[in-house]
Amino acid sequence: MRRVKPQPMPENRVTNAQPEGMITSKHVDLSNCDREEIQYPGSIQAHGAMVVVRELDLRILQASANTLDLLGVGAETLPGGELRALLAEGDIETLQRRLAADVAEGAPVHILRRQIAGREFDLLVHRSDGVLILEFELRPAADSAVADLYSDLRFSVMKLETAANLQSFLDLAVRHVRRFTGFDRVMAYKFMEDGSGWVCAEALRDGLESFLGLHYPPSDIPAPARRLYSLTWLRHQPDIGYRPVRMIPEDNPQTGKALDMSYALLRSVSVMYVDYLKNMGTQSSMVMTLMKEGKVWGLMACHHHAEPKHVPYEVRVACEFLAHTVSLQMAAREDAEHYEYRMKMQATQTTLLGSVARHADFASGFVKDAPTLADFINSSGAACVVNGAVSTTGMAPTVAQIAYVVKWLSSQVSDTVFATDCLSAHLPGAAAFADRCAGLLALRFSKAAGDFLLWFRPEVVQTVNWAGDPSKPVETSDDGKSLRPRNSFALWKELVRLKSRPWSSVELEAAKGLRAAVLELVLERAEKLGKLYEDLELSHAELDSFAHVAAHDLKEPLRGIHTYAQILLEENKGQLDADVVSKLTTMIRLSKRMDELINSLLVYSRMGRMIAQTAVNLSEIVAEAVDSLQMRIGEEKVEVRIAADLPVVRGDRERLLEVYTNLILNAIKYNDSAEKKIEIGCRERAGTSILFVKDNGIGIDPRHHEKIFQIFQRLHGKSDYGGGTGAGLAIVKKIIDRHGGRIWVESEAGKGASFYFTFSAAATTAI
Ligand code: ADP
Repeated sequence: MRRVKPQPMPENRVTNAQPEGMITSKHVDLSNCDREEIQYPGSIQAHGAMVVVRELDLRILQASANTLDLLGVGAETLPGGELRALLAEGDIETLQRRLAADVAEGAPVHILRRQIAGREFDLLVHRSDGVLILEFELRPAADSAVADLYSDLRFSVMKLETAANLQSFLDLAVRHVRRFTGFDRVMAYKFMEDGSGWVCAEALRDGLESFLGLHYPPSDIPAPARRLYSLTWLRHQPDIGYRPVRMIPEDNPQTGKALDMSYALLRSVSVMYVDYLKNMGTQSSMVMTLMKEGKVWGLMACHHHAEPKHVPYEVRVACEFLAHTVSLQMAAREDAEHYEYRMKMQATQTTLLGSVARHADFASGFVKDAPTLADFINSSGAACVVNGAVSTTGMAPTVAQIAYVVKWLSSQVSDTVFATDCLSAHLPGAAAFADRCAGLLALRFSKAAGDFLLWFRPEVVQTVNWAGDPSKPVETSDDGKSLRPRNSFALWKELVRLKSRPWSSVELEAAKGLRAAVLELVLERAEKLGKLYEDLELSHAELDSFAHVAAHDLKEPLRGIHTYAQILLEENKGQLDADVVSKLTTMIRLSKRMDELINSLLVYSRMGRMIAQTAVNLSEIVAEAVDSLQMRIGEEKVEVRIAADLPVVRGDRERLLEVYTNLILNAIKYNDSAEKKIEIGCRERAGTSILFVKDNGIGIDPRHHEKIFQIFQRLHGKSDYGGGTGAGLAIVKKIIDRHGGRIWVESEAGKGASFYFTFSAAATTAI
């Protein structure tokens, strides 16, 4: 079987350097255990002996103090001597052959099994710290070996392949490790991003209290232990109650420092860890690392409670192999689950974008039809914020609360994707609506406009089963002097307030993908609109020039008709009978009327031409328009009230004067009240200036509200109410259109009329 060594994480690589003030087993306590250099314990566990040898000449440098007991030779006599004192010539040759062939740095290699001083040992060797470390591991009692290891292992691996999902896979994995080893309890333990972990699968002996689902605070597995987890696949402590066996001499004479036992099987474990296990009632433990993409994903921890338990070397190798298989398959399975979710999001994105493309405005596409934005990423609610307008779906905060969040995002967060599972940690005011938005995922589209897509997750008033109180991971021992890890594993419930389920990297990636797709859609739509606008401009221009040319060309013959009719009438005065005179007079009147219409058409077509763009003070324009109509206003005693707060807009001065003159004139014309009143003003609604001209005149039936803006549409006889061509409001509308605004009337017959109009946002804000 090929032994595979886990890849050490670069940032956690164990170094040989022992800096000043190094924390080793001699001076560790709870205040510094996070820095304990556990790879330099200076001692080993008691179920074997260790001999450190110089590779060059196989001279012994160090030996563990128990060699007399185990190997029959006193440890003091060994340093400086030859290996021959412990191994037969043939075994030394075997060792040398293996050294030349397959012993690498790290991971101990099994060399042979020998009877020494009446007991059986496995000899394992590895290179570390510039020396050879020989470990003579005592064989456990014969009955603890598994009879047919190979077929058992094959069965387990085959079984694992059948698991339907990650959870059942882990359940199977712990069950099989327990079958192999006979431990009372086997747990799969997964690390979370914050360093805490939880028991996600467990197999245990009947009658034991289950630890399944328990969460452990980060302090339970300190950083040095994790460093070693990334170096070795398996660590075993057959008897937690062992007395550490020191090395003689204490330091590695080659380096002058304590021996680096990072890879040693017999390495003595931290006293803190031993206490920890004892507190759990554990007598023996074996821990395997589960790796994913070169990082420690979690552990498989085996505990035995009733008595010490020594797992033989070959069973450990099988378990190590199993841990490796689990690691590889688990990574694939976890990836498959992520892949499935990603595919689901991809499919939702396609439907979502289809619906966005169908709707005229983006927001409706995102929030109206299912699946909505909230279905895209697992969330309780979502919102689309475009130009400050908020549209929501699902369980979302109120519009005002969203506006508050968006204001903060716009000013304080520069990332295009922002995600947090605790918004109130950034924005304390958000705590008030944590029931809807404890966690936020925000996707920014444009910084200037403050356009966002937002997803919300509510506060999970998570009942986390901390295995112990995470805010109090240590307790003072009875003597009150030394600190020891807490000894209570009673279920402790912690409410994680103001926090939501976290956003996964898969979700953040999907959000980024959606952003790119939406931007593409926006761009496509802008392009289409631009083209449409161009076409429209062109046909407008064509129509205008046609009207202009036609009107212009009509004027000439019309003038001829008018002149000839007049000449006929004047030159033949008295000779023509009354009927002919009447017909000629009608002809002259009609040609005059026609001339008026043509003039109006000419004005109308001219309005289509590009307008000048300057800052126009509407107060001045209104004053000018009123001034030009002063005679009429005076004659008819019209009361004109003009608001003082008319805005300055960007536009064409002359044409805006035309707008006001037309509207004011109509307000005077279509008014038969005894006291004629006109009110000119402006009001603000949702950030838009709405200008108005109101009168107390004859009013307009709502049926005609559209019609009056069409050219040559009059609601009265040709000469009623002072006559007119019916082009005035069409011209006004065209001018307002050209300013990117809108005009409409609110009126009822007999109740006066109010004409309202706006300008484009750019025309009102760009001043
Ligand atoms: P004209 O005044 O030359 O007829 P307009 O286009 O200015 O043409 O007006 C179209 C029609 O709308 C008018 O004939 C009139 O019936 C109606 N109208 C316009 N302004 C008012 C108003 N302030 N009150 C009532 N009716 C109006």
